[in-house]
Formats: sequence, structure tokens, C-alpha cells
Amino acid sequence: MPEPKPTAQRELRAADLVAVRDQLGREPTTAFAVVARCTGGHPLVIRNAPLDAAGDPFPTTFWLTCPEAVKAVSRVESEGWIGRLNERVQRDEGFRAAVQVAHEAYAADRAEDLEGARAWKGVAGTREGIKCLHAHYAYRLAGGDDPVGAWVAERVDPVHPEQRSARVAVIDQGTNSIRLLVVEPGETPHDPPIELTRDMVITRLGRGVDRTGRFDPDTFALTVHVLARFCRQARALGAERIRVGATSAVRDAENRDAYAAAVCELAGSELELITGEHEAALSFLGGTHGLDPAWGPFGVQDIGGGSTELVTGAAPGRSEHAISMRLGSVRMTERHLHHDPPTPEELHALHADVAGVLDEASAAVPIGGARTFVAVSGTATTLQAIALGLGRYDSDRIHRTWLTRGAVEQVRDRLAAMTNAERAALPVMAPGRGDVIVAGAAILATTMRRFDLERALVSETDILDGLALEMLDG
Ligand SMILES: [Zn+2]
Repeated sequence: MPEPKPTAQRELRAADLVAVRDQLGREPTTAFAVVARCTGGHPLVIRNAPLDAAGDPFPTTFWLTCPEAVKAVSRVESEGWIGRLNERVQRDEGFRAAVQVAHEAYAADRAEDLEGARAWKGVAGTREGIKCLHAHYAYRLAGGDDPVGAWVAERVDPVHPEQRSARVAVIDQGTNSIRLLVVEPGETPHDPPIELTRDMVITRLGRGVDRTGRFDPDTFALTVHVLARFCRQARALGAERIRVGATSAVRDAENRDAYAAAVCELAGSELELITGEHEAALSFLGGTHGLDPAWGPFGVQDIGGGSTELVTGAAPGRSEHAISMRLGSVRMTERHLHHDPPTPEELHALHADVAGVLDEASAAVPIGGARTFVAVSGTATTLQAIALGLGRYDSDRIHRTWLTRGAVEQVRDRLAAMTNAERAALPVMAPGRGDVIVAGAAILATTMRRFDLERALVSETDILDGLALEMLDG
């Protein structure tokens, strides 16, 4: 069973380092990522690495950092509630058992980062009872199933009186990964929605579906485990509705009803099977929303694991032509790249194959006429992170920045000369991407060369944002 890999390092912006330093009143001693934000964009909960900078254990995985939230929970503590809740733990067997489960799940979550850290006990570093309400409240906001956190939330939410209502959550179930986005509407419909959390876990639900037609039981269980956490976090952050959309892996599985039943139970909504055409329209919406109409016509490319979409349209948000090609980073890697690092012959065959598929696509979509070419997907954002020489992934530094064709080709060549292990070790590489990024880079580079596109506007927003924008639109 593959270990769930929280890609928490994706959510850390330069502004977060400053905000957390201000919130703590000192330099943070442990590497962290942001797992939830407030309306104003500042970190609400951070996830700490299990070891501090000196290599010593750091048992508090989830830390409440918003000053208003800290104050609100401190008020509850000062009323003597830790003692009273511990009395309840003593006399109420059901409550005691639920607290126990939360402690064990907390330790298991930490063990995803460092296996040995499971032994470091549960919420706030204790194995039984309740020590710190901030820690329980933070755990719940991170998606923990924590009865104490839920009790605190009833007393302190909403922490900020100006918190807007109508928060929504979307979950995109893909072939390789499951992703979550929770937003509230921006000031006007043209403003980007305010992002409260964004997360992605690679669970490989699609593994084996091509061959057997069914979900593998282990990857299915892992995926549902993450789905449950995402739904809890969405509700903890105040999302009123949770929309779950699934693309090809689920569409193709005979036992997709099992996944639909899990969605119904956990998200309280019907699973939506997204067609290729709708997928393309959503990518275009997410990739171009809010761009200046004068930059049109637009072309959007979304490189996935199994397929790549090319979409065009004259105005932002409204796609006109789309094609979904059986061209993806996982598919092309499996087909062509068998050595580590790949041989020149393999790379040549890969590029020839990609160029052939693009030739077929060129008649369907006028991508060469795009004045602004938008590259969405983890392939493009990761290539940009490397081109910019970032020491860690920072979406603020990447979103809506230009990436030239020359830079794409240069980074592709560098990555192609590295081993899988060397690529995976790059600080900006998401877990599970290092072995397929060469094929992804080949798809982007060949597209830009084939259609004479000098530069790409790299976008962090994609189909997931498209799903959310549709939802906010009514
Ligand atoms: Zn706050």
C-alpha cells in the first residue's frame, strides 16, 4: 500500500514566513507549511515538520497561528474548560474513546512524514486526556476527526466577524491524485476567489484500472481515507457545500459505484463524472479567469498523467475549441522512458511520439493563433519553479509568471540528464512527480515549438478552480 504523501510543502509563500514570524514573535524553529488560511489570507493553521532545525523531535504537528483564533481559544481555556473536559473524559466512556481515536489518528498523521514519530503520542503530545485546546482546534481545522476540536469550534467560530458566508469546497478526483480547494467568493465576480486551503495527495486510484477495469482495494481504501479528511476539513472551514468531480480513472472503473457511495456518505453530494469536454472547459475557466480580455485570444494547455487538454477561446473563461489527447506524463513515461536516466534514443522516440499526436490535434484547435498561451498543471508550475531557481515551492512566485520556450527546453534537458532519485530530491519537486516530469516537459516543449509559442503564462489555477468558479457562479 503506497504511503499517503501530503504535499504540504506546496502551500508556503514568502509572505507566510513573515506572517508566522510576526505571529510567533520569533523565528520559527521548524519547517512548516500552511494548511488553512483566514479570509485575510494569513495562516490560520500550519503543519510543522516532525523534526526541528536542530534535528530534535517536534511533536506538535498542527499549530494554530492566527492571533485572533489563539486569543479566542485562550479565553475558553481561561474559563477552566481543560479541567472540566478532562472530568468528562473520566466519566464519559464514549467521549474518552473518541478522544483516544483522535490521539491515535494524530500520531499516525505525523508518521506520514516520519515513521518513527508515531511513538510521540497524540494531540499536544499527550496519549490520553486533554492538554491544550489550541492544539485540538488546530487539528480539527486541518481535517482531524477530533471531538474536542469540534467542541471548541462551537464556542469560537467564526473567529473573524468579517468572515464572508457562502464558502464552498471542491474535490477533484483524478487518476493519480485527489485534490481539495476551499474558497469564499472574492469582492466581485471578476476577483479571484479567496483561497482557504488547497491540498493534494497522490493516491494513484487509477493504478490498474486500465488493466483490470476495477479499483485496487488498497489504493481505493487510501483514497477514501483522504477523501474523508478533505470533507472534514472543508466542513471545519465552514464550507456549506462540497462538490466532488471525477475524471477518467473513476469513469472507466466497473466498480465506480463504490466510490460514488463513499462520496455520497462523506461529502453529502452526488459524485459528478466529468466528461473530457467539460474537463477542458473547466481548465480554460480556471486558467484564464480574471485575465485582461485584451490579451485574447487565449490558449490553455493542461498536461495530466493520462491525457492533455488543449483549449482555446477569444475571451477569458469561455472556451470555444477543445481537444483531449491521449498524451500524458505518466502514459508517455511508461511507453518510452525505461532507463534511469533515459537514453538519447528513448528521448528521441518520446519527442517524435508527442509531435505526432500534436500534429493530429492541430486541425481541431487553433492553438497557434493564441495571443496568450496559458500552461496549467503541476508539470508547468514545477518547471517554472526550477527555471526561477526557487529553493522551495512558492505558488506566489510562480502563479501567472512567464516561462519562455528556451527556459522550458533548458530545464527539460537538465532534468533528462538526472536520475529519478536526483529529480525527486529537488526541493520544489512534489512527491511522485520526479519520475514523470521529463515526459511532461517534453509535452510542453514540443507544444511550444510545434505551434511557435515563444512563452507560456504559468498558472497555479486550473480545473479545480474551474469547478469552484462554476459553483460560486450558481
Ligand atoms: Zn485569522
